[in-house]
Amino acid sequence: MSGNSRAILEATRLLCASRGALQLPKLHERLRERCNITAEDLCTMVCEHPRFVLVRGPERDGRLRPEECTVVAQTSLRLCRSYGRGEPCGGCEELHLCKFFIYGTCRFGKGRKPCRFSHDVRSDHNYRLLRECSLHELDEDELFLLLLQNDPALLPEVTLTPDLPDVAGMSAFPL
Ligand SMILES: [Zn+2]
Ligand SMILES: [Zn+2]
Repeated sequence: MSGNSRAILEATRLLCASRGALQLPKLHERLRERCNITAEDLCTMVCEHPRFVLVRGPERDGRLRPEECTVVAQTSLRLCRSYGRGEPCGGCEELHLCKFFIYGTCRFGKGRKPCRFSHDVRSDHNYRLLRECSLHELDEDELFLLLLQNDPALLPEVTLTPDLPDVAGMSAFPL
């Protein structure tokens, strides 16, 4: 593994261990315990690599303050929606995994009754995609956090109800 891909992997791990985001100097401090990287190289890496987003703080005088910058981990890898609906999928570039396995709440898979969806991140289909995105070395917990944070399909479905109770209606409930 080249020095840079190691730094990318370790930075991803550190971000996942911190629920997906870290202040830039904190990330640098923790990353230096694992690999040699200068602040400049880290800045370049998080600005240029698609794995990271650098969220800048308010720039009052045009100066970039590292302590106001946050690094967020991201991936473009998604779960296959056709697979999730139990529909046939003709060779997509998305993960075939049980959504509830990623939430950690699937009732199947461990017991006698097998889950109808895959719990195998190392299946041929999934592992090839993970390798292509260089995510194959992450632990399941790290990978799932990254997916949960990035894939809109993993968010609960929001149903817009036009007739929400108004404030007057709410006051009928004693607080
Ligand atoms: Zn698919
Ligand atoms: Zn399942």
